[in-house]
Amino acid sequence: MSTAVEFDLIVLGGGSGGLAVAERAVQYGQRVAVIEPAHLGGTCVNLGCVPKKVMWYAANMAHTRHEAEGWGFAAVHDQIDFGKLVAGRNQFVDNIRSYWGGYANELGITVIQGKGVLTSASTVAVNDQTYTAPHIVLSTGGVPFVPPVPGKELGITSDGFFDLTAQPARVAVIGGGYIGVELAGVLRSFGSEVTLLDMLDSVIAPFDSMIREVATENLRTLGVEMRLPFRVQALTETAEGKFITSAADEQLGPFDEIIWAVGRAPNTRALGLDAAGVTVQPNGIIPTDDYQNTNVPGVYAIGDITGRAPLTPVAIAAGRQLAERLFNGRAQARLDYNTIPTVVFAHPPIGTVGLTEEAARAEFGDQAVTIFETRFTPMRYALSAHGFKTAMKLVCVDEEQRVVGLHLVGDGADEMLQGFAVAVKAGLTKAQFDATVAIHPTSSEELVTMKTPRDSA
Ligand SMILES: Cc1cc2nc3c(=O)[nH]c(=O)nc-3n(C[C@H](O)[C@H](O)[C@H](O)COP(=O)(O)OP(=O)(O)OC[C@H]3O[C@@H](n4cnc5c(N)ncnc54)[C@H](O)[C@@H]3O)c2cc1C
Repeated sequence: MSTAVEFDLIVLGGGSGGLAVAERAVQYGQRVAVIEPAHLGGTCVNLGCVPKKVMWYAANMAHTRHEAEGWGFAAVHDQIDFGKLVAGRNQFVDNIRSYWGGYANELGITVIQGKGVLTSASTVAVNDQTYTAPHIVLSTGGVPFVPPVPGKELGITSDGFFDLTAQPARVAVIGGGYIGVELAGVLRSFGSEVTLLDMLDSVIAPFDSMIREVATENLRTLGVEMRLPFRVQALTETAEGKFITSAADEQLGPFDEIIWAVGRAPNTRALGLDAAGVTVQPNGIIPTDDYQNTNVPGVYAIGDITGRAPLTPVAIAAGRQLAERLFNGRAQARLDYNTIPTVVFAHPPIGTVGLTEEAARAEFGDQAVTIFETRFTPMRYALSAHGFKTAMKLVCVDEEQRVVGLHLVGDGADEMLQGFAVAVKAGLTKAQFDATVAIHPTSSEELVTMKTPRDSA
């Protein structure tokens, strides 16, 4: 190997977190290298949020076209040109990748193409070259997890979903987490027959119970066949198609595609963590303290590999805070992981911030918790043949009724949530919500007009 090339900061992984820390560090005058074996932008740009949201928008357009008849438009019975959609989506993603390539170059970040492997706490090898820096950030994200059942290779993952160039007619999605619910919704909206199964008896399990219930009802309204609970034992294939067998010997199928969406595993294998002495949990997560420090001084971890709130804005915010601390003298800079809002791009979307009712009761006790909730079919469907349900819940605690949880499912929930998340993060009370004049006619006005607590109704 030739002499090590020196930097002030080396980042392993050019995804959401890695690019964020690199961008901020180089702006503070640091010599920064980002090592990336695939495309800049990471999961979010290439295999996650961005291509997923393009598909979600297209699915919404499919709904609007089908509903338009009730609103006076001529009926349409055409099918989506899936190949054209995918080509357009790929071009859009490609433009973002190119943007990142140009921007990194403009900023003066050195992008090194290849897989980084730690050889000590301050050196990284990429192919035959060694690089050294006093600060190393690990931000290698995650990969889809596939359980070791017989025939597992007959299924694709979310990565494979983004490789599809033709719409599968019959699909099974294994896993009712947010990715499974999102992919099932998109394919069903385009007219595929979709079966969604999970070993639990409900989808999006960590969410508030009311949201889970209404989201399940909406999936059924959409026409998704729900099989809950269903524990997958094996996948098989015949000339008819692919089949799924349960632990109870029930068989589902035939399907054209089976999509595994049972979770993601941290991408920490073969990273050379041993050589650097970095502690890693058996499940691949790298434990960090509040400041993104690993157990080894000078080595930090951010984003999905830390196992905390695996979301793009979380990885970005953690990366920026770390750069502020290391390179801008802000010794206390760190990300506050409390009260992080998140959206599931289902049909209609689901949004949540703060504590679920169940978590609030466990933390504060039943007496301290007051619940306000509402369910309705929004005016959006006034002239449509079918309508999805909207549901909203405010979880309030103590005498002052501080809003500690806000949960939504319904059209517009994705855009509604951000502003209300500010209010929850700021610790506002129900009275302060109610002191805000409603915007009429909207769905979100319900969040400032709910009068009667559920249990006294
Ligand atoms: C289908 C899907 C939908 C999603 N939708 C959303 C959404 O709507 N909203 C949201 O907030 N989040 C969403 N996410 C999650 C989001 O994509 C991640 O939380 C986010 O990308 C994590 O950023 P990261 O920096 O930790 O890792 P990543 O963005 O995954 O980046 C890690 C990078 O490290 C690289 N790498 C791997 N090994 C090495 C190595 N040895 N050396 C150097 N580099 C390496 C990888 O190639 C990758 O580019 C979605 C994820 C998926 C899969």
